[in-house]
Amino acid sequence: MAGESYDEAIASLTKLLSEKADLGAVAAAKIKDLTAELEDAGSKPFNPDERIRTGFVQFKSEKFEKNPDLYGKLAKGQSPKFLVFACSDSRVCPSHILNFQPGEAFMVRNIANMVPPFDKTKYSGAGAAIEYAVLHLKVENIVVIGHSCCGGIKGLMSIPDDGTPASDFIEQWVRICNPAKSKVKTDTGSLSFSEQCTNCEKEAVNVSLGNLLTYPFVKERVLDKTLALKGAHYNFVTGNFELWDLNFKVQPSISV
Ligand SMILES: [Zn+2]
Repeated sequence: MAGESYDEAIASLTKLLSEKADLGAVAAAKIKDLTAELEDAGSKPFNPDERIRTGFVQFKSEKFEKNPDLYGKLAKGQSPKFLVFACSDSRVCPSHILNFQPGEAFMVRNIANMVPPFDKTKYSGAGAAIEYAVLHLKVENIVVIGHSCCGGIKGLMSIPDDGTPASDFIEQWVRICNPAKSKVKTDTGSLSFSEQCTNCEKEAVNVSLGNLLTYPFVKERVLDKTLALKGAHYNFVTGNFELWDLNFKVQPSISV
């Protein structure tokens, strides 16, 4: 499907569906059998619509309707103190692990919580979020949170040096933190692969903090101390959370 336009993709899917219409009845019968089997086994089949509906009903009655002041204020605008970069991993939601309430953290989630360097065409999605958070919302902190058992970091550490990409997007994306991989291989190459991955999860956070400085509006605010950059690592195996400041050594200009 690579390279298809939206219209072409829809047309091609419609064509495939109509060609397979006769197979639809067979599939429906199979699903019915499977459903009956699951019901016999005493467990209900997963219903995504129902899960979403009950989730929202619970949120609305327990949070939204009980906090009219907060949601009334948020209806007028937001002024979060944090911009957070976190992994897309379903186990590391920052709102859950740090108890962020609505309005507290502007968030970007992607594979392996990476901040790409300033690039108007290649990484405009990340750039737009950083620009909006820093220039318009005026966040005071940017926190990049890595985590244990990160599949994206494991993927980065596993890419052979001379390997041809085996994915459309993933390898290209995680290579943003190649400098972290190189550092870990050089400094701790004798450790087990799993220990190297843990080190890389943290080093990659530092590479991302460095990449944040390639955005001129970030650098400017870090220098005038209106914006702080923080690194973090959440270990969901041991239940620990590390937080650190990256102390950039700003060299005073030397006049001769
Ligand atoms: Zn991850």
